Amino acid sequence: MINLEIPKKAQTLVNQAYQAAAEVFRPISRKYDRAEHSYPAELDMLAALLDGLNSSGEGGAGAAGVRCREDNTKGNRNGGNLSTVLGAIEMCWGDVALLLSMPRQGLGNAAIASVANDEQLQRFAGVWAAMAITEPGCGSDSAAITATATLDGDEYVLNGEKIFVTAGQRADAVVVWATLDKSKGRAAIKSFVVEKGTPGFEVVRLEHKLGIRASDTAVLRFENCRVPKENLLGTPEIDTSKGFAGVMQTFDNTRPLVAAMAIGVARAALEETGRLLAEAGVTVDYDRPANTQHAAAAAFLQLEADYEAAYLLTLESAWMADNRKPNSLQASMAKAKAGRSVVDITLRCVELAGTLGYTEELLLEKWSRDAKILDIFEGTQQIQQLIVARRLLGKTSAELK
Ligand SMILES: Cc1cc2nc3c(=O)[nH]c(=O)nc-3n(C[C@H](O)[C@H](O)[C@H](O)COP(=O)(O)OP(=O)(O)OC[C@H]3O[C@@H](n4cnc5c(N)ncnc54)[C@H](O)[C@@H]3O)c2cc1C
Repeated sequence: MINLEIPKKAQTLVNQAYQAAAEVFRPISRKYDRAEHSYPAELDMLAALLDGLNSSGEGGAGAAGVRCREDNTKGNRNGGNLSTVLGAIEMCWGDVALLLSMPRQGLGNAAIASVANDEQLQRFAGVWAAMAITEPGCGSDSAAITATATLDGDEYVLNGEKIFVTAGQRADAVVVWATLDKSKGRAAIKSFVVEKGTPGFEVVRLEHKLGIRASDTAVLRFENCRVPKENLLGTPEIDTSKGFAGVMQTFDNTRPLVAAMAIGVARAALEETGRLLAEAGVTVDYDRPANTQHAAAAAFLQLEADYEAAYLLTLESAWMADNRKPNSLQASMAKAKAGRSVVDITLRCVELAGTLGYTEELLLEKWSRDAKILDIFEGTQQIQQLIVARRLLGKTSAELK
């Protein structure tokens, strides 16, 4: 039996995340949209509070709570993934770029939580980690990674360039995807934790962007950068029978998280638009067919239906991760639906609000700019659809490209 209510034990976290979003994020949202690349110092205090929530074992509102627990084999559990997703929805209702700027809540933290061993988890506890996969010649096709990692004594030597790394300048460390042996294909791609200040690791520049301007997006260069061999996450074995499995596991946890971010932004836009419609005297009636209502009300109902579908898919994919059920299909479905919906919803809300929607007086125009990235990073719309198609048709990545 599927229970669609939010579990009681997650309610406190949801309330706290909502409060933080309303009282910390929203008031500074526009300020840091304008002050691109300046660090929102207001986040330090909040980050400390979140650390407390994460260490309480309840899961957090950022990425750090994402880990399958060992005891998740029995019964139905609403664990770290679900809590993290619910928290992220609230925080991104406040401001998605500020959540992406929260210390110690990077996508690299989700990678560490997903694939690190217990010793690494302890060693990297409290580290803020960005995630560096994309390269100048490799985005969607992560199997084409050219950054290399060569074992030399007790260290790996990293060489290569990474682009569009979220929190790449501010984070304490970066989880870098590199290949141990290009000739062995996907199975040889591993992830390595590289800490700031390691010789040979350089932040080259920051990007100016359409949206999520409060979040720093960096180009990174690694030149003969040596890291201890214990910084390889997961196993160093190149198991060609398992292919990409190791590093790709990260996406099963991070895609629901990005879908949750999209849901938070979409809800913000819907709430604001609902308020504006009410002020304009447009009533949205849930008991009458949409085609008998005001055109704006009918449009609003359609947007809410998309929102609801994305929300439910996201909760399902997170719940499956908590219950150790393979969730790659659902994670991609959730990401595809939520990514597309947030772009549609925020743009349509700008339109429904008329000229006011286009001005900086409200946050609607900002949300429509912030939305697009949620349909791009951690796998674009097209890539999610490709993954869904492969899973449903039982095709391999070589058979369906
Ligand atoms: C603001 C921002 C932040 C980012 N943060 C990070 C980060 O923290 N870490 C990181 O590693 N990367 C990050 N990225 C990079 C992001 O993950 C990539 O942009 C994304 O994976 C797409 O890769 P690409 O830009 O090279 O596009 P390409 O792969 O070149 O794709 C271009 C277009 O072609 C489509 N396409 C590609 N292949 C197919 C196919 N087989 N079938 C159909 N359509 C296809 C894509 O969907 C896309 O629309 C970020 C990007 C941005 C803009």
